[in-house]
Amino acid sequence: MADIIIVGAGPAGLTAAIYAQRAGRKALVFEAAVYGGQIVNTPEIENYPAIKKISGFEFATALYEQATSLGAEVKMERVISVTDNGSSKTVKTDNSEYECKAVILATGAKNRTLGLENEKALIGKGVSYCATCDGMFFRGKTVAVAGGGNTAIEDALFLSNYCEKVYIIHRRDRFRAHEAEVAKLKGRENVELVLNKNVTALKEDGGRLCGVEVTDKLTGEKSELAVAGLFVAIGQAPDNTPFENVATLDNGGYIVAGEDCKTGIAGIFTAGDCRTKQVRQLTTAASDGAAAALAACSYIDSL
Ligand code: NAP
Repeated sequence: MADIIIVGAGPAGLTAAIYAQRAGRKALVFEAAVYGGQIVNTPEIENYPAIKKISGFEFATALYEQATSLGAEVKMERVISVTDNGSSKTVKTDNSEYECKAVILATGAKNRTLGLENEKALIGKGVSYCATCDGMFFRGKTVAVAGGGNTAIEDALFLSNYCEKVYIIHRRDRFRAHEAEVAKLKGRENVELVLNKNVTALKEDGGRLCGVEVTDKLTGEKSELAVAGLFVAIGQAPDNTPFENVATLDNGGYIVAGEDCKTGIAGIFTAGDCRTKQVRQLTTAASDGAAAALAACSYIDSL
């Protein structure tokens, strides 16, 4: 029996594993997709204390290696349900069933979609949610990024290094992203800001994206941009519905918990972007991982 089962091998989950192992508790981490979570999609991290610059992939790999070298076990299995049996918990995955004393839900969040008719069909055929992963396929081409947060600005900066032209389409006239990054973007000659506009249709030719229709939010006027690629960077949404029986979710689907990362159910904790909080950053995910793991260790001590 593992002491603590951690659902999600992103920065919050892996940090929790590091703290649990260092406190002498056996941590078992489950991940359904790739370790590192959303951070692997970030081309460059420049705001993690003491690390001037690192790619998201390198960061995730170093974190994974740190956790596993301390003895944490990471299994690539999707967690389907968690059952609270009092002093033990049962975690069911798509492969097996496991028992533990405490659970930390660190499920992160998933990319939001625009919700357009042919969006799903065009994934991998011009529509992407990850500039780091797919950007290279658009070298020398004209592309668009939709969104106005840090991800969108970073994606646009990254793509402007090798795409002919990058449109950044944002629904307002002000960006939510850090000012320093926005200033960098404005300095790029091959970037054009398309503001107060929503992407309202995807144009295709022979099953591939060839353009986007944008609609002005203020005038309702429609226009078209010819692009070979569209990078959708409009934020994330959590997916905690499998855990509704062991945690309270707010209207947005986030697990309700404070800075102590306690869900209100004994032995069930939460950490990172999946939790109700104001600031969702790498630093705050790591901080949550530590808080949740230490709270889980105290809980186990009290059993
Ligand atoms: P985000 O900060 O939530 O920004 C999402 C952006 O998409 C916003 O500009 C939003 O517009 C827009 N948007 C949302 N729904 C939309 C829709 N249906 N249609 C059109 N536009 C829509 O998401 P994010 O950029 O992915 O960042 C997520 C979190 O990670 C944030 O806390 C961010 O600071 C953090 N992050 C940090 C770094 C870094 O520090 N290096 C890098 C990446 C991400 P409005 O502005 O009008 O709401």
